[in-house]
Parts: sequence; C-alpha cells; structure tokens
Amino acid sequence: LKDCEVVRPCPFCDYVGRGRHLIKNGDLVIVIASNPRLVAGHALVIPKRHVVRPSELSCDERAELFDTAIEVEELVTAAGLGTGCMMLQNLMPFLPQSRLKVDHVHIHLIPRTFQDELWQVSIRFQDNLFQDLLDEEFRVIREKLCSNINN
Ligand SMILES: [Zn+2]
Repeated sequence: LKDCEVVRPCPFCDYVGRGRHLIKNGDLVIVIASNPRLVAGHALVIPKRHVVRPSELSCDERAELFDTAIEVEELVTAAGLGTGCMMLQNLMPFLPQSRLKVDHVHIHLIPRTFQDELWQVSIRFQDNLFQDLLDEEFRVIREKLCSNINN
C-alpha cells in the first residue's frame, strides 16, 4: 500500500500518548505541535476521546481542554513564538475528512505578532467586516441567537 492508501480514520486519535509532535500528555487532553509553514509554533489542544462536537465533551474534558488551551496560549508568548496568540475552534461538519480537516474536536493556538502575515491578509477585508449591520439585519440575527440559548 502507498501511504495515501492506508486507512487512518482519525489522525488525532493516533497522536494520543505518542509521536514526535506530542508536547503535553494530560489526563484527558493532549497538546501537539502542528506543522504549518506559515505560523511557527502553531499548537493544537485535543481531547483524548474522539469527540466530533464540543457539546459532546464532558464537564471534566471541557475544563481540561480550556485550561490547557490557556496554558499553551501563555506558553506561546513566554517562549517568544509570538507577542500574542489566537485561540480558535472550528465546527465545520459540512467539510469532508482530509489531512487538513479532522472531525475530532481541537483548539488551535496560533502565535500572533503585530501586523503579522495573517493580519496582512485579513486587513483587505476589514472595511467590509466592520461595517455596521442595518437595524433589521441585526434584529433577525439576534433573534436567531436568542431563540435557543439558556438564560
Ligand atoms: Zn479522533
């Protein structure tokens, strides 16, 4: 079999407890060093249990996941990988599984610096992103968000 033909249902489950990318092995979560060339120091915090949606995490998993993400965020700046850090979690069940899309909950910690490459790219969209919504647009969105939230 060629490497691409090997069936690996979840690459993140493979990292649990081993691998050269592993930088922390907690009780319920692991931290791995990711490998994108654009951002050195990009890390992922991943629950050990295969969970697709954050809402499926237990209270203990949620606590350790977020506590560890905060710890790594501080580590990124302390290690001089960035002067800031972006914490990011995507829920995109509509995308097919691939090397870059893994259906196993994970939080990205992405080192940031003032006016870094990510900022250079996103600034092009800034004028549109920060335009105020019309009152009616805002009312419709707020209603959707409020309709099922627990208060
Ligand atoms: Zn998994």
